[in-house]
Amino acid sequence: AKASLTRDICFYDVEMDEAARDRTKMAKELWTAIEENQFRLHYQVQKSVSTGEITGYEVLLRWHHPERGNVSPADFITVAEECGAILPIGEWVLRQACIEAASWPNNYKVAVNLSPVQIAHADMPALVHSVLFETGLSPRRLELEITESSIISDKQRALNALRSIKALGVSIAIDDFGTGYSSLETLRSFPFDKIKLDRSFLIEVENSDEAKAMVRAILALGQGLRIPVLAEGVETTDQLDILRDEGCHEVQGYLFGKPMPMGDQLEIEVEAA
Ligand code: C2E
Ligand code: CA
Ligand code: CA
Ligand code: CA
Repeated sequence: AKASLTRDICFYDVEMDEAARDRTKMAKELWTAIEENQFRLHYQVQKSVSTGEITGYEVLLRWHHPERGNVSPADFITVAEECGAILPIGEWVLRQACIEAASWPNNYKVAVNLSPVQIAHADMPALVHSVLFETGLSPRRLELEITESSIISDKQRALNALRSIKALGVSIAIDDFGTGYSSLETLRSFPFDKIKLDRSFLIEVENSDEAKAMVRAILALGQGLRIPVLAEGVETTDQLDILRDEGCHEVQGYLFGKPMPMGDQLEIEVEAA
């Protein structure tokens, strides 16, 4: 038993080393990915529940690595945050999204994800201001999505940054709402323009009264605070029907479209028109 325990420990260590080496390698590659033009922006449509009209698009970053192929943001954003590469990458995403949105043939909103690391370590109000100025995008068309973890680390600093950004006319959405541990307190202390209901709340919502009660409660909260709620990850018409019945304002999910390049989105819009 002792021998096998030792072997397990050694094996575990080797795996740990490999994982750590892998992350270090990926971190290095992330620093060069911008120069090598390996990032692309995909967009996922957001729609009004009552009218069915498009209200905006969320920007989702895609990394095409020469050897690894497409790497999921779920796998590389954390590494980018740990090594600091998220700062230049996040700046690139913001600038590129504003450049692209300024050239769209319509005035839809563009929603950009911000990492907590950006809120904590970059002068975001100054960056947002200069990117809007450079690209000529109306601040009304820009929405920034932040998670609660952005606010938790240094609350006062985060609130000041977000207030300055809002003062520019840019709106702020709280992302993945309901998954953090202090959601209600966060909502009370900061005037968000939108609540993005995490898609985990939609799982089983068609079959479970408990799941439906949770969705109803969050929609009521949004209503009470006068903050519109967007439901993420809508995949079925049953889910959409429930959200409509319960007074949800906006929806986003595979039912309406997967994230894709803007060119493909525009083709779909032309076909639908
Ligand atoms: P998120 O901000 O919550 O984005 C929504 C994720 O859900 C996206 O995954 C999207 O493709 C996926 N999704 C949308 N509709 C559906 C659906 O109906 N069903 C299912 N199962 N999934 C759906 P993606 O693109 O892989 O991004 C994962 C996460 O990576 C994002 O979660 C966000 O936290 C992060 N991320 C992506 N792009 C950026 C970025 O530019 N900056 C930062 N800081 N984070 C980003
Ligand atoms: Ca998001
Ligand atoms: Ca989300
Ligand atoms: Ca998420």
